[in-house]
Amino acid sequence: MAEQNFTTDDAGIPVVSDEHSLTVGPDGPILLQDHYLIEKMAQFNRERVAERQPHAKGGGAFGRFEVTNDVSAYTKADLFQPGKKTEMLIRFSTVAGERGSPDTWRDPRGFAIKFYTDQGNYDMVGNNTPVFFMRDPMKFQDFIRSQKRRADNNLRDHDMQWDFWTLSPESAHQVTWLMGDRGIPRTWRHMNGYSSHTYMWVNAGGEKFWVKYHFITDQGIEFFTQHEADQMASMDTDYHTRDLWEHIEAGKYPSWTLKMQIMPFADADDYRFNPFDLTKVWPHRDYPLIEVGRMTLDRNPTDYHCEIEQAAFEPSNLVPGIGTSPDKMLVGRLFSYPDAHRYRIGANYKELPVNAPHVPVQSYSKDGNLRHKNPGDPVYVPNSKGGPHADPSQVGATATWHPNGDMVRAANTLHAEDDDWGQAGTLVREVLDDDGRARLVDNIVGHLLNGVTEPVLARAFEYWHNVDADLGKRVQDGVRAKQKEKDPKTDSQSNPARRSAQDKA
Ligand code: NDP
Repeated sequence: MAEQNFTTDDAGIPVVSDEHSLTVGPDGPILLQDHYLIEKMAQFNRERVAERQPHAKGGGAFGRFEVTNDVSAYTKADLFQPGKKTEMLIRFSTVAGERGSPDTWRDPRGFAIKFYTDQGNYDMVGNNTPVFFMRDPMKFQDFIRSQKRRADNNLRDHDMQWDFWTLSPESAHQVTWLMGDRGIPRTWRHMNGYSSHTYMWVNAGGEKFWVKYHFITDQGIEFFTQHEADQMASMDTDYHTRDLWEHIEAGKYPSWTLKMQIMPFADADDYRFNPFDLTKVWPHRDYPLIEVGRMTLDRNPTDYHCEIEQAAFEPSNLVPGIGTSPDKMLVGRLFSYPDAHRYRIGANYKELPVNAPHVPVQSYSKDGNLRHKNPGDPVYVPNSKGGPHADPSQVGATATWHPNGDMVRAANTLHAEDDDWGQAGTLVREVLDDDGRARLVDNIVGHLLNGVTEPVLARAFEYWHNVDADLGKRVQDGVRAKQKEKDPKTDSQSNPARRSAQDKA
């Protein structure tokens, strides 16, 4: 006999009606004993988990990573051994916008990957940019708040964004990158992903290396101009989400080639740039890219809430052969990501299928909200009852270094060529062509004209002069000319029409 397709409540009890509440007569009041109605209303009220603080809007897919080269000289990590194939999940996102915000706002994109390796989960919480706005996690919360909404009118505000940036000169490299073409990728398929952070790799002999990951898109880099992005934001808020979904549904699987920059451990001390400064790249001519393998996305989620919204990536998930570095932002993120998941999803977020490793878990964690399976006895270690115990041979896989010095609150020690403007200037002068530079000027001018007031505006001109004198002049001239054109008698200080940043961001 065919199985009956009847509705039940969440306890599996058949329900009598999908349409009518329990009432006293057809026109009488609803009764409190309508447990099914109450369950429906209560469950609905609890459907949303808290959105991520940054990176709230995003989408993702599953795929596989396949090693195509032999990098065993640099790492013993199982997932990077020759020929190895590993299942993975990726989530792309914008940083500042809320869950419903347009995919095409100018913003860095998150590029978070979970590799389900045979040695446990390995997560890389990357971005589509090789650098970031700051180098110390002490400033991260303030930076994100300056990108979100004002306290009084709940509007995004370019004035506070530029106020923060111009008082934080270490942001110049990332802001230059953001205002350029790559600040609005055409789709998620058409952008690179970078670890941005420096990590450590350890080989089977215990030799250590500092490394940076570059996932280079096989689709090629493509971008939207500001105008195209503004149009798309009003036509299709979810353009990037839809593009990824549709391409995978159609069997047009996007892929990225993973290439590494690898620095011998001892080079770090006197490399010309501080290799652990998140606002800096390692120029390719110093550390050329070494191919590792290919990541291909070939499976869409079947349940966005369970598999993408509740996906929990954390850079603290490191497998043997891979470790951290003295990058202060990375160390901050090692704490803040799992902390965010415990708050947002709950203490046992790692039990959810999307977050659970594909290898057995033999930890002593137990109990807590919504746990569905405990490891059982013994509940302590050491024990003589057959419980799991640690493996001292793993010590060789632990990536360590020897920090020294007093405890201080201080800026990083400067290396020979460290400053806040140099690499941003190189990007402007040596990487961008004339058209790219012209679009950069237009984008900055448009951004500044959208509500930035004195004295922030004057500081912004100085900021761009510091990046590149010619760029600074073009930005200043561009802003002043547009102000004059708009209203010969007023400037941005007296312009009351400060618009929401979000429509032009
Ligand atoms: P290279 O000439 O070897 O590399 C320049 C790199 O810039 C390219 O490989 C490309 O990175 C990237 N690029 C190209 N167009 C743009 C753009 N419109 N916006 C942002 N990045 C772009 O020079 P260096 O390695 O000496 O780096 C010079 C500057 O290039 C750096 O100061 C940095 O601003 C930028 N850059 C450097 C990267 C690095 O890891 N060395 C990575 C990305 C940018 P890709 O190949 O990754 O697409």
